[in-house]
Amino acid sequence: MTLAQALRQAQALGLERLDAQWLLLALLGRPAQDRAWLLAHDEQSLPEAAAERWPGLIAQRSQGVPLAYLTGHKAFYDLDLQVNAHVLDPRADTETLVDWALERAQELTSPTVLDLGTGSGAVALAIAHHCPPAQVSASDVSADALAVAQANAERLGLSVKFALGPWLTPWLGQRFDLIVSNPPYVAEADPHWPGLRHEPRLALASGADGLDDVRWLVAHAAEHLHPGGWLLLEHGHDQADAVQALMRSHGWLNVQSRLDKAGIRRCTGGSTAGMK
Ligand code: GLN
Repeated sequence: MTLAQALRQAQALGLERLDAQWLLLALLGRPAQDRAWLLAHDEQSLPEAAAERWPGLIAQRSQGVPLAYLTGHKAFYDLDLQVNAHVLDPRADTETLVDWALERAQELTSPTVLDLGTGSGAVALAIAHHCPPAQVSASDVSADALAVAQANAERLGLSVKFALGPWLTPWLGQRFDLIVSNPPYVAEADPHWPGLRHEPRLALASGADGLDDVRWLVAHAAEHLHPGGWLLLEHGHDQADAVQALMRSHGWLNVQSRLDKAGIRRCTGGSTAGMK
């Protein structure tokens, strides 16, 4: 089978052209930027081992398995992350959370930052990479997810202190300048569930309105922040008003939201009283 035939096979199964090209490049051990190479060499034959794996890969992609799980990689905030089905497929929306966290962190000389529910480590690692003076900590309730985050940190040569456990439990008695989280926030009746079925439910579902974990974090994070510290949360496209109201009712100050690249209020945060 030639590369051109492999691509045609993928498109016959309904795969997008780009998805098929990226999947084939990953299978050949080539970087995603090598699309021009692929087009120039599409009369070459697929090595035997690759040809054997190809039908299974395109079948999984056609069933909605995220491309990142099949290639094993995802670009996030200029980092190349390794991902698998134990962690959420990192999304461009979440770069809003990183932008905001970096703004806050860069105002301090030696900020302490905690990422809760770190998954692949995407947020913690992007902060560590772009704000070297920051001391970044991160935790997750899933040991499988934490293993992915730790492996990413090692591979990227970034220093993050990892711990296993639910929300703030691993950080008993500790305070930070900044707490960030992309918690689960998909509501029970959300119409997007079919498209999310291959990702860990633990990282997505959070009660009837999707806000159970946000409520918990808004109620408990202040005990782990220094005076004037900030809590920044990602949430669903229609949850900004609810998260703002929750934060205000718990006494958070400077409550505000940030827009993602699609212009949707995607993150909400606030600070504790005091100056830092
Ligand atoms: N952004 C994801 C989605 O809606 C949800 C991520 C999350 O629950 N933290 O597909």
